[in-house]
Amino acid sequence: VAKHFLARVQGDSLGAFLSTDAEVTLAQAAAADRRIAGGEAAPLAGVPIAHKDIFVTKDFPSTAGSKMLEGYRSPFDATVVRKLADAGCVTLGKLNCDEFAMGSSNENSAYKPVRNPWDTSRIPGGSSGGSAVAVAARLAPATTGTDTGGSIRQPASFCGVTGIKPTYGRASRYGMIAFASSLDQAGPMARTAEDCALLLSAICGPDPDRDSTSLDVATEDFTLSLNAPLEGLRIGVPREFFGEGLAADVRKAIDDALQVYVKLGAKLVEVSLPRTELAIPVYYIIAPAEASSNLARFDGVKFGHRAKQYTDLLDMYKKTRAEGFGDEVKRRIMIGTYVLSHGYYDAYYLQAQKIRRMIADDFQQAFRQCDLIAGPAAPSVAWHLGDHGNDPLADYLADIFTLPGSLAGLPGMSVPCGFGEGGMPVGLQLLGNYFSESKLLNAAHRFQ
Ligand code: GLN
Repeated sequence: VAKHFLARVQGDSLGAFLSTDAEVTLAQAAAADRRIAGGEAAPLAGVPIAHKDIFVTKDFPSTAGSKMLEGYRSPFDATVVRKLADAGCVTLGKLNCDEFAMGSSNENSAYKPVRNPWDTSRIPGGSSGGSAVAVAARLAPATTGTDTGGSIRQPASFCGVTGIKPTYGRASRYGMIAFASSLDQAGPMARTAEDCALLLSAICGPDPDRDSTSLDVATEDFTLSLNAPLEGLRIGVPREFFGEGLAADVRKAIDDALQVYVKLGAKLVEVSLPRTELAIPVYYIIAPAEASSNLARFDGVKFGHRAKQYTDLLDMYKKTRAEGFGDEVKRRIMIGTYVLSHGYYDAYYLQAQKIRRMIADDFQQAFRQCDLIAGPAAPSVAWHLGDHGNDPLADYLADIFTLPGSLAGLPGMSVPCGFGEGGMPVGLQLLGNYFSESKLLNAAHRFQ
């Protein structure tokens, strides 16, 4: 199986992979074979997987899609990588992504863009664009992604694959190169909810010594409830997700999907998430604030790129960061530093934190009336490479439906539900209350 997928990866022209190493992959596959032959019941024994290049790995380079970490090798594996290896997975390589996971189109990768296999003139979404494309183009049966503000759900939607982001704190962030620590979560991307359930069961679980925000909640076997009936399930449809910003083709696909749920016995309930629009400014204050602090470590001293020529220490820092970071990363560092600075902290950062809490409270109100929330993952299908040109705001605005759930720390997923303009896939976003992953996967599985 590993050989089959390695051959497919070698023929890839979509830009999904940043690194491969056939020798390492085949050695891991041989080890998996020995475990199987030895009668060991590793649940994912021999299943090839590829990791977003945000996860550090000792056997492959880890770049976070940035020139800053070109050639960097971690001395350890991220917890998620280790857990999947313990479950028997075999690593195919590392996947392209937006630099430090900042982006919605994968065009912010410092290495190369990733192309959408449904139409190679279009973007795959981001920031886990490589992860979505690898599954969609059948270069890997499963991949890992990270979701800070939608980076699993939105590319899953654009590429017609299934992805889930668990409740914040359920998967360890240890060894995930940090973007916005209060939002970052890992999750699987695969063809189906069933595959995602198998992977998520291996990924979740406490990691108290290594991630201080990891929750003391044991993982579950998320496959157990996949076939539970949906009779009587109350699906909340937030009115703010169906406003004028939603493209007609996406709306149609989502409406049709909701009708499938009605046929499966679920009830649709209109709910309100009144602060949906505010999620954009709130997220684009909080995430850059945290990023500006997290990225301070890239100073040319501890790891990664160092400028070749400089006059003194300060000059070395400045040149290293000027050369190593791309435009979007610099933009976020500047915004983040600004909103955290004396005199602006109260006006921006503190305000944003208060509204973040209100957004989380709005979800709790909604969950009094429903069991799950359903809506679009993104306002349109995947756009064309270059469409957003030099307009970062166009990217930010397209995150509107994924940001609220991220700010609230809720689990969410995207399930392929139909096609829109240009025959491009549309994803149905399902959001649940804290720790409702099995409910989400059940609803997705029954739909599929
Ligand atoms: N598009 C969002 C951003 O650029 C989300 C990215 C993510 O979830 N990593 O920040």
